[in-house]
This record gives sequence, C-alpha cells and structure tokens, in this order.
Amino acid sequence: MNVTEIIARKRDRQELTAEMIAALVSGFVRGEVSEGQMAAFLMAILLNGMSVRESADLTLAMVNTGARLDLSAISGIKVDKHSTGGVGDKTTLVVAPLVAALGVPVPKMSGRGLGHTGGTIDKLEAIPGLTTDLSPERFCAQVAEIGVAIAAQTGRMVPADKLIYALRDATATVESIPLIASSVMSKKLAVGADAILLDVKAGSGAFMPDLARARELAQAMVKIGVQHGKRMVAVVSRMDQPLGRAVGDAPELAEAVAALSGRGPRDLVDLCQVLAAHMLVLGGVSSDLADGRARARRALVSGKGLAKLRQMVAAQGGSPDTLDDPESLFRQCDRIPIAVDRRGVVVALEARRVGAAIRDLQALAGEERHACGLLLARKVGDEVSADAVAFLLVPRAAHGAAQDVAARIRAAYQIGDRPPPALQVVADTITS
Ligand code: URA
Repeated sequence: MNVTEIIARKRDRQELTAEMIAALVSGFVRGEVSEGQMAAFLMAILLNGMSVRESADLTLAMVNTGARLDLSAISGIKVDKHSTGGVGDKTTLVVAPLVAALGVPVPKMSGRGLGHTGGTIDKLEAIPGLTTDLSPERFCAQVAEIGVAIAAQTGRMVPADKLIYALRDATATVESIPLIASSVMSKKLAVGADAILLDVKAGSGAFMPDLARARELAQAMVKIGVQHGKRMVAVVSRMDQPLGRAVGDAPELAEAVAALSGRGPRDLVDLCQVLAAHMLVLGGVSSDLADGRARARRALVSGKGLAKLRQMVAAQGGSPDTLDDPESLFRQCDRIPIAVDRRGVVVALEARRVGAAIRDLQALAGEERHACGLLLARKVGDEVSADAVAFLLVPRAAHGAAQDVAARIRAAYQIGDRPPPALQVVADTITS
C-alpha cells in the first residue's frame, strides 16, 4: 500500500496496521514522506482518532526512529516521571532527588519550556556550570552511582517526535490525544525505565484545559505504557493557577530547595508528596501510598532529598554550595511590588496568562533570562487590597517593559467578594 492509500485509510476511519504506521513515520524521518503528506495524516488522526493499539504502534514507530538507552546495568526498579507541563511546575526538582534518596533509581530526561510553560532543564541551568547535556554512558553511570540524573533530551532519541512536533505546531494538530500521548510516551519508552509516573495537568495553565480531556489523555498514555510492558500511574493535577509561589527558573529552583528543606508552599509540597509516594510504590520501596507519603514527608523535613539534589548538582558540574543560598541566583534583579486595584478575594489567577507574561520577561532578559521571574504573595482564596502586595515581579528589563509584564500579570488576577471552594491539587488518579 502506498503512502496516499494509508492516509486515505485514516481519513476514511479505517484502522491502520503497525506496518502502515511504521512506513509513514520512518518514511517521514528519512525524507521519503513529504511534509504535506504527514500534515494530512496528522489532521486525519486529529479528526478521526486512533485506537489504543494504533496509538501504541505509533509510539513504537516513533521510538524506532532513534537511539534507546540501556539501563540494564542499573539495579532496582527504575522509575521515570513526566509532567505534561504547566506554570510554576518545579516538582521534578523536588521529587526526583527525594525518591532517589529513598532508594528508587530515577533516570529522567526532561524538556525545555514549551509555549507558556517552563521546562525543568531551563530551571536546572540557572545553576552556573551545571550541564544537562549528558552522554548516554554518563547518564546511566550517574544513575547507577547516585540514583538520579536529569538530562536534556538528545536529538538522537526519538527524532520523529522532534519533526512531527514542529509540523503539529504549524498545522493546528497539537491538541490530539493520540498525538500528545505518542509524543510523550515515545520519549519515555526510549529512556526505558521499568515504571512511569505521569503528572497530567488540567486547567488554564495546561495544554489540556478541560479536566475530562486531561483524564482521557492520562488514560491513553497509561494504556500505551501497559501495551509496552510498563507499570504505569497517571495523576491528574490542577493547573488553573501557578503551582507554588515562584515562577521563573532561578526563583523556582529556590522554591524547590525550600520544599526540600521542609519549607515549601502547601500546594507544591502536597503534590510532591503524592507524586513521590506513587514512585516509591512503583519502585517497590513502599507497600502503599500512605507509607510512601510518610517516607516522603520525613525525607523533606530531614533534608535527605536536598542532600541527594546536592549530589546530583555536583555530579553534573555545578557547585552544590549554590543550593545553600539559591536566592543569590536572582539577587541582581529588581523586585517590583505590585498590588491589584481593588479590595476582595482572589477567585482566579490564570496560569496561562502568568506563564506567557513570564516567558516574555525572560526573553527581555537575554543572557540573564534564568534569573528573572515572579513571586506570588497572593493566590486563589487570599484577600487582596489596593495597598497590599499581590506579587513581586523580579525583572531584568527596562522599567517600561517590566511594567507592561506586571500589568499582564495583574490582569490574570480575578477578584471577587468571597473565596471560591477550595480544590485539592490532585483531581484524579489512573492506575494500570
Ligand atoms: N509534551 C510533549 O512531549 N508532547 C506533546 O505533544 C505535548 C506536550
């Protein structure tokens, strides 16, 4: 069957075989399937969907276009973690070392910021000298030796995802559950951990704003993982407002360090404990979630997780002493206190608007982009007034440009007369 016939089959809602899917994906990476053909195929998937089997085959076809890691030399049940991306989401910086400190090896490939969301790699690179560009050998050796490594995705792994992602961006085909699920899961399968914990974000700051759709995405990814022999858990967590109180690379790193010192904001700490507990159960260290949470809580308070982060930073070329005073990484920035213009209670703080404004603030800072960001003094449920600071902007930009960003963040605050009902940060959990 030729390429046009395969595309027509998906257009006509017929199921594709693994061979048909592999022919299109590998042909595209080799340059034998044109961008136009792949764009039509992606749109047909967006409109007509894919079965679980087709999605699993698409994922494998993407993995097979590049290199895979071999983690077999690392003993124990290796557990990976992935967030679908949000604003202020520094959970990996807390959870990966925390879980590793408790005996579960965590091989973690992370991404950079995408759209309005921040990326773990950018946050880590706020530490001078630290590299996330680890060769597969160095990555595996580090996980074997200290239990954790966080590296940037290399171009050699899943090249199909890089090419297809760029085309999806240009053809309005990003918001497809099988396409997002295969994009995420192909990168997870290429790393090759035994078990995977997914943190699927739902809300205004997530790629999947609708809770029901986020659940569907979580289920699709869990099923793909199971089809490939992985133990899977997906937590669906709320991303309506930024997580924690810091947004921006160095400010978020400092907040992660605070959380690992037992001083983190409530929503961040709650979510980190849940994520860590699942990873400890998946890794066979805890028998149940209650035990996992209790261990995670103790390791946050005792500083055990922070000690592991120090070890990881040193192994990746940074100075662990930076973590003694992480605020020093953004002390050179201004701090502009901003109030909202009326008295009341914060009923919403739109994460997407905040994230987009901070990404622009970072772009204005050029080389110093890692330093700048935002510290939220008031979040949903808090009282505000015209003479109380709602947030501190931490810019490295001309005054006018910073004021413009501040105005956009102020506009993300919705003020009402009474607090909205309090929502748990975890909305749902899907297990395999
Ligand atoms: N993150 C990914 O890696 N892929 C997507 O398609 C969306 C979010």
